[in-house]
Amino acid sequence: MIVAHHASEIPPCTGGRGFVPTMGFLHAGHMSLVDLARSKSEQVVLSIFVNPTQFGPNEDFKKYPRDLDRDLAMAESHGVDVVYLPDENEVYPLGRDAISLDMGPISTVYEGALRPGHFSGVATVVARLFLLVQPNLAIFGQKDLQQWVILNRLQGALGLPVKLEMGPTFREPNALAMSSRNVYLNSAERDMASILSQELTRIKGLYKETDWSQLKRDVEYSRTRIGEYLKLDYFDIIDMATFKPAESKAEGNAIVAAVRVGPTRLLDNVLL
Ligand code: AMP
Repeated sequence: MIVAHHASEIPPCTGGRGFVPTMGFLHAGHMSLVDLARSKSEQVVLSIFVNPTQFGPNEDFKKYPRDLDRDLAMAESHGVDVVYLPDENEVYPLGRDAISLDMGPISTVYEGALRPGHFSGVATVVARLFLLVQPNLAIFGQKDLQQWVILNRLQGALGLPVKLEMGPTFREPNALAMSSRNVYLNSAERDMASILSQELTRIKGLYKETDWSQLKRDVEYSRTRIGEYLKLDYFDIIDMATFKPAESKAEGNAIVAAVRVGPTRLLDNVLL
């Protein structure tokens, strides 16, 4: 496995380069994306870059968990060919304020409303990483569903020559969606956090057989139950194309949810 600090150190490859961008502190969820990339590409590149432009001023950029030795061992054991560790100068050659992509209304609702500027930072860093790594295929997790939809917009709007694929959300044994930030939770908080996925699964289970007005009551019940244990930011049925609240049962609906456990925010979703 090659550890590349500069994109120029990534060896050429003719049979397809699969790319998994991450912020490190790797876990089995990231590795499931690596396995997917591995099954479809001759060369797998995983990047680790804690991107300052996607964090708000009061967020955990400085404290974001980091463990490079562990990350490298995990990447190697999953057959990653290149771990790419760019520094900020390589990603933002004219400085981090020189460019910021505006992804329109879809980037200012839900996560975008609670984290202003977050998706501009995500879109900008992904566009830069695509230019640096030049992948044929890039894999992103369903866990960050709004990010997935926005990155597809980015790809389509700029006509980027890369195929995007989504990997399913990988979960802990109690069904909590895996996240680097789960390390902030103690075991009681981890137990409580699993209520989020329980309620998502419950609504998904009854969705097909339930009419819209009853579904709205069921969603309200979920909000109340989650709110008994966790601080609820949102739990809504949305239309994935626009990320607006859904107004009927329709193709392309999903439930998106976010909670806070102490200072830690947790995201989850299910496709309906
Ligand atoms: P991050 O390091 O949190 O920026 O995540 C890097 C990539 O891994 C993103 O595409 C995430 O959506 C994806 N990811 C994070 N957690 C999971 C998970 N539990 N299952 C699948 N993909 C995930």
